Amino acid sequence: MSVAPAIVVHGGCGRIEAATVAERPEGVRQAAARGFEVLRAGGTSLDAVEAAVEVLEELPLFNAGRGSVLNAEGEIETDASIMDGATRRAGAVACVRGILHPVQLARRVMETTPHVLLAGEGATRFAQSQGFPRLRPEDLIVDARRAQWERVRTAESQSEHGTVGAVACDLQGHVAAATSTGGMVNKLPGRTGDTPLIGCGTWADARLAVSCTGHGEQIIRMTLARLAAFQYESSSDAQRAGEAALAELNATAAGDAGLILVDRQGRVAFCKNTPNMPVCAISHQGTLVQA
Ligand code: ASP
Repeated sequence: MSVAPAIVVHGGCGRIEAATVAERPEGVRQAAARGFEVLRAGGTSLDAVEAAVEVLEELPLFNAGRGSVLNAEGEIETDASIMDGATRRAGAVACVRGILHPVQLARRVMETTPHVLLAGEGATRFAQSQGFPRLRPEDLIVDARRAQWERVRTAESQSEHGTVGAVACDLQGHVAAATSTGGMVNKLPGRTGDTPLIGCGTWADARLAVSCTGHGEQIIRMTLARLAAFQYESSSDAQRAGEAALAELNATAAGDAGLILVDRQGRVAFCKNTPNMPVCAISHQGTLVQA
């Protein structure tokens, strides 16, 4: 029996510069459209989430790939992960330098190594061994991010952040999730957030896929993505599951957070506790874009 395919994409729930607010919904719409094309052509949910995240990694407006935020030493270190719900295979990379598409690298970890997560220099060397082009810092750093870093580091703040993510359900009713980020602005070198941690920033099982955004340390403390899947086990309602997980975070750890979810029936859901998460959902109900 075939299921109506569905995809949800988010562009991060962090604070954003006024200048980019208006353009971000168009970015997530493009990414969701690309992923939905994959699903409509009979592609897997894994291929769809990877394709959608790649679009956002290329757009400098979003904190992932090109346009990632700078760490305390003015450099980019990115995190990403991907998970296939039907098989529970997962791959992730943390603190990677000079790679435009960390989500592709995460998938390569999943498909060509016995591991789930590669970090730092080892991940970068793995990328080279796999033929990923190693870019110069200036190929990924954009002016707006350098200006943001100058402003934030003098205030010694680490509260600005962003991420991109996608969840999808394919014609077979298989779900997958992918998430990619530059993390928190002015973070310590080596800092790793929730994004590459399976069950924290990303989760997919036979029934539900989840991608999170927000203050990584708080999301890790809640294992937020897995918490949403746990909530889904009792309600079988993706929206209620996301909201219940978010309510638990609000009550326990607080911090910015947002989630997107899709279940194996292609029912889409999202929720957030900040005003800043652009989302696009495409399903049999049509296309919904929220700024
Ligand atoms: N969760 C990401 C991190 O902490 C940031 C974000 O989603 O805004 O690295």
